Amino acid sequence: DIENTEHYMLYQRSSALFTEAKKYIPGGVNSPVRAFKAVGGDPIFVKEAKGAYLYDEDGNQLIDYIASWGPLILGHAHEPVINAVIEKAKKGTSFGMPTEIETELAQLAVSMVPNIDKIRFVNSGTEACMSAVRLARGYTGKDKIIKFAGCYHGHSDSFLIQAGSGAVTFGSPNSPGVTQGTAKDTLLANYNDLEGVKALAEANKGEIAAIILEPVAGNMGCIIPTDEFIYGLRELCTQEGILLLFDEVMTGFRLGKGGAQEALGIDADIVMFGKVIGGGLPVGAFAARAEIMSHLAPEGPVYQAGTLSGNPLAMSAGLAMLTELNNKPEVFASLAQKTEYLHKGIAKVLTEKGVTHQINRYGSMISVHFCEDPVVDFASSAKGNNDTFKKYFHGMLEQGVYLPPSAFESYFLNDALSYTDLDKTIEAVKTIF
Ligand code: PLP
Repeated sequence: DIENTEHYMLYQRSSALFTEAKKYIPGGVNSPVRAFKAVGGDPIFVKEAKGAYLYDEDGNQLIDYIASWGPLILGHAHEPVINAVIEKAKKGTSFGMPTEIETELAQLAVSMVPNIDKIRFVNSGTEACMSAVRLARGYTGKDKIIKFAGCYHGHSDSFLIQAGSGAVTFGSPNSPGVTQGTAKDTLLANYNDLEGVKALAEANKGEIAAIILEPVAGNMGCIIPTDEFIYGLRELCTQEGILLLFDEVMTGFRLGKGGAQEALGIDADIVMFGKVIGGGLPVGAFAARAEIMSHLAPEGPVYQAGTLSGNPLAMSAGLAMLTELNNKPEVFASLAQKTEYLHKGIAKVLTEKGVTHQINRYGSMISVHFCEDPVVDFASSAKGNNDTFKKYFHGMLEQGVYLPPSAFESYFLNDALSYTDLDKTIEAVKTIF
């Protein structure tokens, strides 16, 4: 019972801070999923974090499986990143003029990721996806896009159509405020359903600018594309003159240096980044071959801009993070091994306890679903038992393990997690069930 006294004692100060926050901030948070609405109870207010651990305002230590929703792949307050930001801040925080470090980060990103020549930095994953779609429309001269139910590409209007994770958690798959005019240009398909996409392409022949997807989905739990689906999309796009947009905001610099393109062996036409590329500061980016990027202002006519884009603090964090990953690529294998260890440990416990479940995993993305059938798309993900999920989430929290507070989110492992942490996590699952 999350309202019990023990819980209250553990999170007294967090609850008081939440009450205060609600007076001045809608729902007390600046991004909805933080509010614990899907799982009940009050959110935890964090005070500081180091490595794999969060320290909250009540002095509890939590093992963190969110890592700020993905960016902190090497753990919290990672020294090379923090030091780079501190040193940069002493020299001024924003100029609105070109700086050398933007080229340094661009050059490094382009060298790590296959199939891209140029990259434009923005301030969030939302901006990256929104701008990439505008570029795709400007480049192809077509208006419509195909997106997949349960895929999230940020909160810009075109994408808030069955948008997965936060949007679905709040039961508003189609947000009020998105006009019919905008919504009509977003065609909806089901993940891993190539035939459905082909039918949409046929019915809208010559009108589709782009197919946008999470190449490994993380916003309806972790969902892996079938080979037939993902290779089929590439082929269809090439045949029909449609651009294939990979939203690598989660997968970029997480599944490996070259992200999902490299892991799946597929060239996308435009790739979007966020999270890891900013090392924990607000950065997003979109990238493509020079021929496509040349359509972007000021080289071409497709407008896109930002007062704080390429901000020196954000660039220094991103550069320090990508430099670490580029110099120590073994991190990706280490993370995948840890994730596999966690997968096997949790699966063993749930099987022994007779708890119906499915676990999906790809690299360092993993999700536990309390349902019978394989989770391959949004509909199968939505079948998960939310009561069991709530019990699991709060049970883990009381034992000092912080999981995403929604059944539709993937966990993001960070490499500061030790095998002792993983064992504690598996033990906690055993205790709950
Ligand atoms: N695309 C994907 C796949 C995401 O997971 C997210 C955020 O979680 C976004 C885009 C939006 O990024 P941001 O929250 O930085 O705007």
